Amino acid sequence: MTASRVLVLNSGSSSVKYQLLDMADGSRLATGLVERIGEETSRLKHTDLVSGATRERTAPIADHGAALKSVAEELALDGRGLDSPELAAIGHRVVHGGQTFTRPTVIDDAVLAEIERLVPLAPLHNPANLTGIRTAQALRPDLPQVAVFDTAFHTTMPESAARYAIDVATADEHSIRRYGFHGTSHAYVSRATAELLGRAPEEVNVIVLHLGNGASASAVRAGRCVDTSMGLTPLEGLVMGTRSGDLDPAVIFHLARVGGMSTDDVDTLLNKRSGLIGLCGDNDMREIRRRIDAGDGAAELAFEIYVHRLRKYVGAYYAVLGKVDAVAFTAGVGENAAEVRAAALAGLEGMGLAVDPALNAVRGDGARLISPAGSRVAVAVVPTDEELEIARQAYALVGN
Ligand code: AMP
Repeated sequence: MTASRVLVLNSGSSSVKYQLLDMADGSRLATGLVERIGEETSRLKHTDLVSGATRERTAPIADHGAALKSVAEELALDGRGLDSPELAAIGHRVVHGGQTFTRPTVIDDAVLAEIERLVPLAPLHNPANLTGIRTAQALRPDLPQVAVFDTAFHTTMPESAARYAIDVATADEHSIRRYGFHGTSHAYVSRATAELLGRAPEEVNVIVLHLGNGASASAVRAGRCVDTSMGLTPLEGLVMGTRSGDLDPAVIFHLARVGGMSTDDVDTLLNKRSGLIGLCGDNDMREIRRRIDAGDGAAELAFEIYVHRLRKYVGAYYAVLGKVDAVAFTAGVGENAAEVRAAALAGLEGMGLAVDPALNAVRGDGARLISPAGSRVAVAVVPTDEELEIARQAYALVGN
């Protein structure tokens, strides 16, 4: 029997998301989520995608080890346990690969040590990813485990885009540069956009707008990332659900000196109490649109600030690329919020960018064009699929 299945694990600080895929046909067999690990109210929700059956557990789950064991039990109940000979690899989403990891990597002790060394660059995420890897290794020591890095797709950025204009020695001493995140999504969506246009990725330039609760833009030239909006951390760039995105760094000094805030206070302010939630008290675009329809001025201003930043990045990346074949919207907001797509590109006909209102209003699950026929630049909605991309990359690497 050929092993063609890949289990994809996305381990967060208190959660584990997983999907089991069969790479023989790209189909999904199971999916689930363990939440609130380490709390009394832990919850595991498992769905077998073949039968459609869903099961939930609400007993306390103490740690990631226990979480993964519960996931393995759930998979086993449907005859797809971790001991299955059909399992070819486990693919792990790892947030920060620094400058070291430019591609997916089979995990050994040296790789684990390097992910550990990069913890200061992603202090919340990399430790959770490491715990997930170690737990999975303990359960199936013989199985290839593959790390797929959120930063890897962006390692092709030229130094002119990756470097901050600060003292070089200081920057190098502390590994300060722009790394970018959401790379798996940008890679998948830029390729899927080329496919939608019926062209090879090497033939097209694409601006990808990944607009979820976290949000980032990237400029992709001939399949390679040449610029992206997130930086040393995911704080830089677009206005997000709870993050500020770009601001004058002196705001931080001002808050410390004049506002008396600590480094941690400012960190929390900019990452958790800014962006849409800071501007209007809501970070869900659906709620913001409901409030705008009801005449709420704060929600309207938050929407305008969000869209203004987005337009600036579209313009900037248009200039970075010189020639643009497509703009692709993806993730929760990008795939669903027609108003954001329309507003972000309104008035840019002179740049060859336009959104057809009728096409934009159509809801759908697949990749689709929303620009008028014959537009110079295609505008597309391209649902992202990070799990499929991780599974593909892991499977390609283990050589089945
Ligand atoms: P993500 O991080 O990609 O899961 O995106 C989550 C965000 O997508 C939510 O916080 C919402 O702002 C947004 N979202 C999800 N569904 C919709 C929808 N139907 N319309 C507008 N925004 C949506």
